[in-house]
Amino acid sequence: MSSPPAPFTASPSASGSPGALLTEVAEVQEALSSTRLGDASGQPTGTQRAIRWHPPAYDIRVEDIDVPRILHPDDAIVKVKLAALCGSDLHIYRGNGGVKDVHTCGHEFIGEVVALGSSYGSQAGDRPALYSSLKIGHKVVSPFTVNCGECSVCRLGYTARCPEGALFGSPLLDGGQAQYVRVPKAGGTLFDLSDSSTWSSSMAPEERQTALSKLSDRSLLMLADILPTGVFAAVQAINHPKVQPVLTGKPWPLCFSSVPESNNLSILDEDKVFTAGIVGLGPVGVCAAISLLDTLSTRKVPFHIIAVDPNGSRRTKMKAVYDAIDVSGKAGGTFEVLAIDEAKARANEVTKGVGCTAVLEVVGNSSALDFSYTLVRAFGVIVSVGVHGEPPLPFNGRQAYNKNVSLDFGRCPARAMFPPAFDLLVKRQDIFGQVGEPASLIDRIVDFDQAVESYSSFDKGEIGKVIFDPWK
Ligand SMILES: [Zn+2]
Ligand SMILES: [Zn+2]
Repeated sequence: MSSPPAPFTASPSASGSPGALLTEVAEVQEALSSTRLGDASGQPTGTQRAIRWHPPAYDIRVEDIDVPRILHPDDAIVKVKLAALCGSDLHIYRGNGGVKDVHTCGHEFIGEVVALGSSYGSQAGDRPALYSSLKIGHKVVSPFTVNCGECSVCRLGYTARCPEGALFGSPLLDGGQAQYVRVPKAGGTLFDLSDSSTWSSSMAPEERQTALSKLSDRSLLMLADILPTGVFAAVQAINHPKVQPVLTGKPWPLCFSSVPESNNLSILDEDKVFTAGIVGLGPVGVCAAISLLDTLSTRKVPFHIIAVDPNGSRRTKMKAVYDAIDVSGKAGGTFEVLAIDEAKARANEVTKGVGCTAVLEVVGNSSALDFSYTLVRAFGVIVSVGVHGEPPLPFNGRQAYNKNVSLDFGRCPARAMFPPAFDLLVKRQDIFGQVGEPASLIDRIVDFDQAVESYSSFDKGEIGKVIFDPWK
């Protein structure tokens, strides 16, 4: 959000009549028909309740606004079943995002398709599969940004930076904390949970369908942002070239080649221990920890992980999550949860003063990044997935040079990360399947009347992740 994506370039209907764009007539849902009527085409009309942000800061209101309409042939209208409140919503909430315009909040939602533009149907040709297969009534979860699925950027998996992308819950695109949301480029963006053959997973199709049928909507909602973003942080660290000497047991740069290492360069067992810092233990930080633990234990890489947060309740949550993970998801290393003032000394101790192989920065501010720099080793990697604001980086070129540090920044391509995130969601239902338990990421499910209070309490760190039910 600190560097808003390019505006979504939706062109209005040539016919001038949004209704004319519809190819399918929706059965207007019962919940709709009692309070608001569909128009002749079946697209919901009238007003809806939505959580809206007002400038300059800390001003959240639940308002009646128009139900969104199809504006472009590629649009879908989704009736929102559940929408989550996320740490990155707080950047705008606090007035730090450089945002000035009133808009509907929220970028994490799951729901049901109630209207589709004219691009959908048998004539879709070689466009992304959903333009042919997505139907009204299908259950969908959306990544937190729109992406076209048809450009080079999307094809390569960098979907978060699609030139046609936009972030839900921003002035460019109303968000999902509403009863209905418009999804531009829906055929390239959405995941069709009613048709699991339209997306990838490491599971065989039948196994995938069975696993999917057991997942609750609130659990599947984690796929909108926090779980893929956590997995993204771990994947970037574990796949970075700089960490390969640790993983392969061969020194730089022989780890990339078939050149045999000479005997006098032999790496010791202690050099092959992956040491990691995780800075920030909000929901995404916890997901990053779960993913990193799972990857390292599955690959049988020995590890020391130090997870850090100044907030005691977040540390308590992280400890409960770690305790709840079964041994298959954390074997082969140590995992410590520490306050900031303890973490530096402990990192020095476990790495013998060398510093961490990788540091995952999951906060998005200068002090977290500065602390990450102090933890990382020379030739180490800092992976930053937090949303950074305006201030300059807390270290300069000389400091970066002096540590040969690699910085991997930026927004998660949530759509591309869906397959590994789904697999982890299924595997870790001991964590992701619960609500309000010590080890669950979701703290509570509330109605819109509790929106103002929920934003305020979440901002103060008094509560964990909140989900809104717009129909409660
Ligand atoms: Zn989010
Ligand atoms: Zn694209």
